[in-house]
Amino acid sequence: MKLRYIIITIVLSGCLSPLFVSAQDMAYPIEGDGILSFLRRWNRIDTSYVREFKELNFDRINAQGGLELGTVYLIPPLHPGDVYPAPEVVNQPTERNIFGEKYKDFAVASDNLKDACFYIMSGHGGPDPGAVTRIGGRELHEDEYNYDFALRLARNLMMHGATVYVVIQDEYDGIRDERYLMNNNGETCMGEPIPKSQIDRLKQRVDNVNDLFERDKAKFKYIRALEIHIDSRNPKEQIDLFLYYADNPQSRLTSYTLRNEILKQYQKHQPNRGFIGNVSHRDLYILRQLDPPAIMVEVGNFQNARDRLRILDPNNRQAIANWMTNAFMEDYRRVVRNN
Ligand SMILES: [Zn+2]
Repeated sequence: MKLRYIIITIVLSGCLSPLFVSAQDMAYPIEGDGILSFLRRWNRIDTSYVREFKELNFDRINAQGGLELGTVYLIPPLHPGDVYPAPEVVNQPTERNIFGEKYKDFAVASDNLKDACFYIMSGHGGPDPGAVTRIGGRELHEDEYNYDFALRLARNLMMHGATVYVVIQDEYDGIRDERYLMNNNGETCMGEPIPKSQIDRLKQRVDNVNDLFERDKAKFKYIRALEIHIDSRNPKEQIDLFLYYADNPQSRLTSYTLRNEILKQYQKHQPNRGFIGNVSHRDLYILRQLDPPAIMVEVGNFQNARDRLRILDPNNRQAIANWMTNAFMEDYRRVVRNN
């Protein structure tokens, strides 16, 4: 008898659960809506919402996979940290146009990083191409790929409510979904031309970031500077991802959080591949001179054929930017929770 009662309760609650979906979790589409635009209006930005939407509305999606006007659709519940309506991000110091026509419009998905500020620097730029590699007849320059990584990461961080400075900028190149990125030397350091001599180049970005940090440090609970590079080593060496930290504990701890989070993602998505990323201290001018906790990341070896395959694939560049964003959110939680 008792068992029967339990079974009935389970069956009943299983049947009843859709009834607990409140009125605001359903909506009618508007003219021209597809699943993506419908979800975006409800600030469900992450692509995993599409799958959830299809599961919830499997009997209401039409034969072409689209939405029907006049049909009401269930809206997937918000993931932890995501919010509706989209939070307003005020005083964002970076113009969205920098991300290019295709990527300049985006909604803020969460306020997970609302008290965080980032100085994102792509390594090299201007007269300095960084490492150079050749594929077929093409010459590829490290700085163009650094910049693409930097933009993808900066945009992601902004989508989670962070204040983000894109320190090295190129007004002509947004995020590029291309394998072969055209070379140019029009990058600037926040609008100033990048000088020719190496020490002047590094000093320029350090001075700019340190000036900003002086103004920002009282305003935010979490501030990090990150410079992105692609290493240039012996072509036989496959390296995945290397992180270098400056001589201070915040920089070191953040580097380890980044590494551990990215390691988790590799184990999840490419379990057979093995991750050989590493974290170490390095006495580099940039890391030594920057006042905010600074990290340098090397995304693979530009001369290694397998590393280069990953670097050239725009989906992979986006995946790495996504993993780094998650890692920064984890690190932010670690720091803000402990204060
Ligand atoms: Zn470099």
